[in-house]
Amino acid sequence: MRARLATTVGGAAATVSRLAGKGDGSVIGGIIGLRLEPSLLSLLAADRHVVLVTGTNGKTTTTRLITAALAPLGQGIASNIYGANMEAGLTSALSRAPDATLAVLETDEKYIPAMVKATNPKVVVLLNLSRDQMDRAAEIWLLARRWREALASAPDCRVVANADDPLVAWAASGARQVTWVAAGQRWREDSWCCPNCGSHLRRDADDWACGECGGRRPPVSWMLYGDQVIDPSGQATPLDLALPGRANASNAVIALAVAEAFGVHMPQALRELRAVTSVAGRYTQVSRRGFDIRSLLAKNPAGWLEALDVLAPPPAAVLLSVNAQGPDGRDTSWLWDVDYRRLRGRNVLVGGERKLDLALRLEADEVPFRLVNDIDEAIDAARALGSPSLEVLANYTAFQQYRAVLGRTE
Ligand SMILES: [Zn+2]
Repeated sequence: MRARLATTVGGAAATVSRLAGKGDGSVIGGIIGLRLEPSLLSLLAADRHVVLVTGTNGKTTTTRLITAALAPLGQGIASNIYGANMEAGLTSALSRAPDATLAVLETDEKYIPAMVKATNPKVVVLLNLSRDQMDRAAEIWLLARRWREALASAPDCRVVANADDPLVAWAASGARQVTWVAAGQRWREDSWCCPNCGSHLRRDADDWACGECGGRRPPVSWMLYGDQVIDPSGQATPLDLALPGRANASNAVIALAVAEAFGVHMPQALRELRAVTSVAGRYTQVSRRGFDIRSLLAKNPAGWLEALDVLAPPPAAVLLSVNAQGPDGRDTSWLWDVDYRRLRGRNVLVGGERKLDLALRLEADEVPFRLVNDIDEAIDAARALGSPSLEVLANYTAFQQYRAVLGRTE
């Protein structure tokens, strides 16, 4: 009864928030609901099959892909598709879908222990773990330890984990049931040391092993191999996704492994994944003043490295844009950890509130560029340089600013 009241009041607050133009209301509704009933999340999660998705990069996309892959089950699925990924956001996602028997919930890395306890998940997905912002670099080892402890004390939970990320593998190996996926690891700067004993890790292609404690990459049952997925029977199938890039191919293989845990066969799940064309405004092609623009979001060095792989080839121009507001992290020194040399010879534009930080970095990598103040200046500059289209790569608040101008597209 209290849960129903808390849900109703929370839902009303969310509606008011939406009408007032203050976002989609998913956080305020959850906050008020939790204030009235502190165990609201547990109550809402009971009797549902819950999937929690976490990692430094790819949470939102993977959550979307898993939701798609489970569609063949024909059941309602609750999900926090706009990335409100702490307790209030999860609570709100569940309260908005009272009849959904499944829930696929993106979860902030720090909240995994509490959310595992609250939702008793059937599956927890661990994607990757790398530093997000420079001022938080030391946290990832602590996070991995907390994940490991939380999963070790959740015996009914299946973990689907990326075996190619040593820190993730160490965290997951505390769990009773693990599906190991070779999802790749493009960014390695945060995993040269053994998470178990601190010794230097030997790395050979995707393989890794510790010479001291015997820790090594676990044998995998799913694998991303080039553009193909290799399933547990050993059969290779082309992914043929609409979403671009290797990072999304990894996310898709993870989604297939989760779908299998729910009894959805690979061909069925894959058909659904191929139909996903954009995720919360990312990857969407929009047109402004007759110019094609595609927006990519990347928040940290690992994300930028992945995003540079995804850029459409020349003559498309590239707009790089960096802010340093609270959600982005105030420190932009991470820009120095990304290799920009592959942008040489392209039409490169630089924008965002911290464009001079980025400009300095590009100069060091000998990448010519032009500074621009907004999206229309970028379009004019790209046109003048002879580019027919524009690829926008931006960090969090810079991405939100462009999205506000270009229109919220799905
Ligand atoms: Zn070791």
